[in-house]
Amino acid sequence: MNTLTSLAASIDGQRFWDDMLEQAKIGALTPRGLRRLALDDNDNKARCWLVDQGRALGCEAFYDAMGNIFLRREGQDPDLPPLLIGSHLDSQPSAGSYDGTLGVLAGLAVLRALQANGIAHRRPIEVVSWTNEEGARFAPGASGSSWFAGQREAASILAAEDDDGVSFADALARCLERLDAHQVNYRPDPFTPFAFLELHIEQGPVLESLGVPACAVQGIQGVNWYSVTVQGQANHAGTTPEHARRDAFTGAHALITALREAVAEHGESVRFTIGKFALEPNATNTIPQRATFSIDLRHPSAAVLAALDETFQRLGAKQWSGCTVELKASSRVPPVEFDSQLVEMLNASVKAYAPDAPQLVSGAFHDAIHLAHRCPTAMLFMPCRDGISHHPDEHIERDDAEIAVRALADTAGTLLGR
Ligand SMILES: [Zn+2]
Repeated sequence: MNTLTSLAASIDGQRFWDDMLEQAKIGALTPRGLRRLALDDNDNKARCWLVDQGRALGCEAFYDAMGNIFLRREGQDPDLPPLLIGSHLDSQPSAGSYDGTLGVLAGLAVLRALQANGIAHRRPIEVVSWTNEEGARFAPGASGSSWFAGQREAASILAAEDDDGVSFADALARCLERLDAHQVNYRPDPFTPFAFLELHIEQGPVLESLGVPACAVQGIQGVNWYSVTVQGQANHAGTTPEHARRDAFTGAHALITALREAVAEHGESVRFTIGKFALEPNATNTIPQRATFSIDLRHPSAAVLAALDETFQRLGAKQWSGCTVELKASSRVPPVEFDSQLVEMLNASVKAYAPDAPQLVSGAFHDAIHLAHRCPTAMLFMPCRDGISHHPDEHIERDDAEIAVRALADTAGTLLGR
């Protein structure tokens, strides 16, 4: 007899993979890859495709005020908050077909297994596709999930414009019209789920290098961004002696060396990147008067980020090679730790298939970072070839994916019985 405890074994791996291939046709690029920008025609087609799949399984389909799509399979106790599983269907402009889609279709695979095997469950389950996770057309991303979780106001999301001057509000209105025409039920407001689970590709090299098909994710590291200006004095490169120089490049170089030394004290898990650097006036025979650069600083621990923040501010208040510095934090996104009980459940589910599976901290943002503020949340990762994502070469192995979906289903089965 099929029950929730055999939900993992009830997953139809072939059907799940067929779903992945079918979905990848919507917005497919030649010779490979995917372009499905948030709320564009292909994204809307993909939403309707998902709705059709859910309906064929007897699920009810809903959309909310931000265009998030939900497929609901009723529980024996419809009043219980539902277990929520999902990710996103939108993509980067030149992407692969696994980032995001994997997590939505893993949820669909769980719905298929419940339906095909007539498995009863106390708690309702909903599969979600969040609107505009990527932020490629409308920045910043994670619009649907951040709004749902109460992390961002609708007004600021709706005002965003794409490169053609189309507002998020207008694109969303067209999407909602289409969902309306597709007779999807409108359920405007967010609710509090029992828990949220998201399966996603790792977008890094660790799992592949370990030869592990999946792992539980403990949290998502925090990110601080800084913009730094080092102010010196422009002068002739040939006539100005060393003692009379206030060279902005030399000052910036000394400051960066000190910043790097401070970062190194916190070990391997700090990510420190200077991705932009500019000099003024940027001429071969003139001492630069101004250097500007960016810093992207990441770490899983809020305490480490705070300590480094203090050090950065202290170093930024000093003079370097006679130059003054302005060091400003332009954004701070704190790290998120996922629900430890859920992480442990997912970890145990994975270890049934992969005893050597590690636990990772995510280096990239996902919808789950916002949901963690709304309900108990955790993630699973699976490897992608060479760690590549946001590129048509993004690739996953079918066998790994099937194990990852089964691990997800195993934990889902436990939660649906509670
Ligand atoms: Zn993603």
